[in-house]
Amino acid sequence: MAYQTNELRGGKDPQYEVIIIGAGVGGIYQLYKLKQLGVNVTVLEGAADLGGTWYHNRYPGCRFDSESYTYGYSFSKELLNEWHWKERFSGQPENLRYLNYVADKFDLRKYMQFNCLVTHAKFIESGNYWRLRLQDGREMTCRFLLTAIGLLSTPTPPRLEGMETFEGPSFHTYYWPQEPVDLAGKRVAVIGTGATGVQVIAALADMVGDLTVFQRRPNWCAPLNNAPISDAEMADIRARYDEIFAKCLRSPGGFEHEPDRRGFYEVSREERVALWDRLYDEPGFGIWLSNFREIFTDEAANAEFSEYIAERIRKRVKDPAVAEKLIPKDHGFGVQRVPMETHYYEAYNKPNVHLVDIAQTPIERITPTGIRTSERDYDFDIIVYATGFDAITGGYDRIDIEGVGGQKLRDKWADGPITYLGMQISGFPNMVTIAGPQSGSASTNYPRGIEVGADWVTGLLEYAWEHGYTRMEATHEAEEQWSEHVAQMYSTMLMRKAKGWFTGYNSNVPGHEHGRIRYFVYNGGSPKFRSTIIGVANDGYKGIVFGRRPGSNDDDNPRPQRLKREPAL
Ligand code: NAP
Repeated sequence: MAYQTNELRGGKDPQYEVIIIGAGVGGIYQLYKLKQLGVNVTVLEGAADLGGTWYHNRYPGCRFDSESYTYGYSFSKELLNEWHWKERFSGQPENLRYLNYVADKFDLRKYMQFNCLVTHAKFIESGNYWRLRLQDGREMTCRFLLTAIGLLSTPTPPRLEGMETFEGPSFHTYYWPQEPVDLAGKRVAVIGTGATGVQVIAALADMVGDLTVFQRRPNWCAPLNNAPISDAEMADIRARYDEIFAKCLRSPGGFEHEPDRRGFYEVSREERVALWDRLYDEPGFGIWLSNFREIFTDEAANAEFSEYIAERIRKRVKDPAVAEKLIPKDHGFGVQRVPMETHYYEAYNKPNVHLVDIAQTPIERITPTGIRTSERDYDFDIIVYATGFDAITGGYDRIDIEGVGGQKLRDKWADGPITYLGMQISGFPNMVTIAGPQSGSASTNYPRGIEVGADWVTGLLEYAWEHGYTRMEATHEAEEQWSEHVAQMYSTMLMRKAKGWFTGYNSNVPGHEHGRIRYFVYNGGSPKFRSTIIGVANDGYKGIVFGRRPGSNDDDNPRPQRLKREPAL
């Protein structure tokens, strides 16, 4: 679509120095950082309110699987002292309340504009700024464009014949209705058994009349072991916050969970099982992240551990035939994102819960009254699609992003993302993808990675402002090197063969079929990523070329924009 030329406000300055797209966990923190500096910034959010993933995902059972107190922001002692996490793994309503509390406490809401879905973004080379167009036709300009659009924000329903003919309510979990859904006594279908499916299935089992799960491939799941947090425990957590966040910063995943330093083969089978027995009963991702490192790289080690988990599943599911269906046979434990569950396996012991193996009897179509498989027709009142997301790059593909020379980002990334440090893209100057594809932030406990990413981005912008630069762009060479490095790190990981979103697999998105690996995430761990990006900053932002507007001199490039206190909303 052609852009009409717009006059820049005030003759030569864009309307905003910075526009952040997205008012989720990342956008909120990035806004806070820039407001601290008095920058002329606004946040554009497509939804009707803030919260990002925690605004949208309202399905029953939706909750953290990061420990709540490691998921909260770390930047304010006052905030840490005020907020009481009620559960070790807090649920969606509480998480959304938390984000609203943060926005209100730091007076951030007035810098956010809601129902502002950005559909186009074009870099205007003659003036070194971005022009955005919203779904409602409005246009806005900014010097620097920061994307905080999330990793899993583009839901992908299946492409099944007849979906529009179903007469009852049907929705993707991301669009679970805001108003209460009447579930009592209803016949409900869930398609999909990823981390979302596993949460919603376990929760619905107790809420509906009859629940039928359509499973194409099972996942390896492990117990979340959630529990309430008492006042005394919260007081202890508050006293230890510095220590907790320091530990998260040291660990590869940004969690308190650190890998077992012993070699898998250096210890006896009994010692391995003793570790696994302990981890299985502990809260959170320990079973995945505090395990032996060989689980991620060594087929035999992974197979031994997978068999241990399979036995656990067999013990929890009463019907041996159902148990076997719930045990993955095509991949080992942890090579895909591990869903954390609360009584998920026990749900299949209930008389009202049924499992349909659609690898054996595929879904043929959705009918007005339900689902038809190759075997039979099923009637339902409600159909829930827990079928995942066009992960990592889907949010970018939805916006028509045009860089230098008319190049479209979705064309550049057609075979997978290419970035510098996961935050800069050659050919797309002045655009920063905080926690973007190939960044360390994308593969860790999200807010821990976000804070690292947004702090670095803030430093980068300050550097530009201090030097009067109005243009910055990663070099092609720096980007090539980083992307090769990211790809290289996949080479030792069993994950590279998996059919999961870490490698860009999504059967509902053309071009994302299994086997076409997309190097989406940085697998070097959080400490290494952090030290790399700090090194780049200390080296004068090596790999990024700074400049001024073409044909301008220094006088044309004053720096006062960031000092304008209030955006013109
Ligand atoms: P997902 O892991 O991609 O799982 C999608 C599921 O739907 C898979 O079981 C998939 O089967 C199935 N599916 C997809 N298309 C289908 C079709 N056409 N027919 C039948 N089945 C189909 O998506 P997700 O469960 O939404 O999880 C995505 C990510 O969100 C997670 O990995 C996690 O990072 C995040 N998440 C986080 C939390 C949390 O923090 N607490 C909770 C939920 C999700 P196949 O495997 O056969 O393709």
